[in-house]
Amino acid sequence: MEKTVVITGSTSGIGLGLAEGFAKADYNVLINGFGDTDAIEKERKRLEGLGEGRVVYHDADMTKPDEIADMIATAEKAFGGIDVLINNAGIQHVEKIESFPIEKWDAIIAINLSSSFHTIRAAMPGMKKAGHGRIINIASAHGLVASPFKVAYVAAKHGILGLTKTVALEVAQQGITVNAICPGYVLTPLVEKQIPDTARERNMTEEEVKRDVILAAQPSKQFIEVEDIAAYALFLASDAAKGTTGAAVTMDGGWTAG
Ligand code: NAD
Repeated sequence: MEKTVVITGSTSGIGLGLAEGFAKADYNVLINGFGDTDAIEKERKRLEGLGEGRVVYHDADMTKPDEIADMIATAEKAFGGIDVLINNAGIQHVEKIESFPIEKWDAIIAINLSSSFHTIRAAMPGMKKAGHGRIINIASAHGLVASPFKVAYVAAKHGILGLTKTVALEVAQQGITVNAICPGYVLTPLVEKQIPDTARERNMTEEEVKRDVILAAQPSKQFIEVEDIAAYALFLASDAAKGTTGAAVTMDGGWTAG
C-alpha cells in the first residue's frame, strides 16, 4: 500500500536525511525548504530514484500559515492523504539575551514552534478521517535542557514538547500518534553556522567550541548521525510504534542523562 510523508525543512541536514530514509522505504515524499531551485530539483529527482514512491517539492515558508496550509493540501491532493508528518524545519541564533534581536526571536518561535501547530492543524482532519496518522516533531536535547545564549531556540524546543504531549492526548484513541525526537548535536549546516557565534560569545576559538562546548555536552563524544535519526523516525512511523505517543525520545549520546 502507498504511504506518504511530509517533511518540513528537508532541503538540508536532518530533513534531507529523513527524506532519503523515507524515500528508500518507498514512501511518497513531500520535501520543503529553501535553496537554489535547480539544486532542489536535482535533489528531488535523486530522492525519487531511491525507491518506489514519488517525490514532490513545495516551497512553503514556515513563517506563513497560508503557505503551510497550501503545502498540506498539495500533499493530500497529490498522494490522496498524509500518513506521516515530520515537523523538522528549524533555525538557530546564538546571542546573549540583552542584545538578542527581536526579529530573530520572532522568526525562531515562528519556524521552530508555530509552524508545527499550523502543519498539524491542517493535516489533522485528513488523519482523523483515515483513522491513522503519525506525527513526528524534531525537537532537540534543548527541548529538555537549556544552554546559555540560545533563548529563543530553547524556548521553542521546550514548547514543541508541550505541543507534542497535548495533541497526543487529544487523538490518543484515533490511531494517531504524536512524538518528538530529541537529538543532541548533529553536524549539519545549522550547527556549523553557530560555531563562530558561540566562539565570539564565549571568547573561545572555533576548535575550543567544538571540543569544549559542543562535544563536551555529549558524553559519547560523537555527533548524532542523520541516518540514525531517519531510522528512528521510520520506527515511530511503523505499526510497531502504535503504543508510543506523547513521548520525547532522546538520541543525544547521553547528554540529558547527566
Ligand atoms: P539545517 O540548517 O541543515 O536545515 C534546516 C532546514 O530548514 C533547511 O532545509 C532550511 O531550508 C529549512 N528552513 C529554514 N527556514 C525555513 C522556513 N522559514 N521555511 C521552510 N523551511 C525552512 O538544520 P538541521 O540541523 O538539519 O536542523 C533540522 C532540525 O533539527 C531543526 O528543527 C533543528 O532545530 C533540529 N535539531 C538539529 C540539531 C543539530 O545538531 N543539527 C540537533 C537537534 C535538533
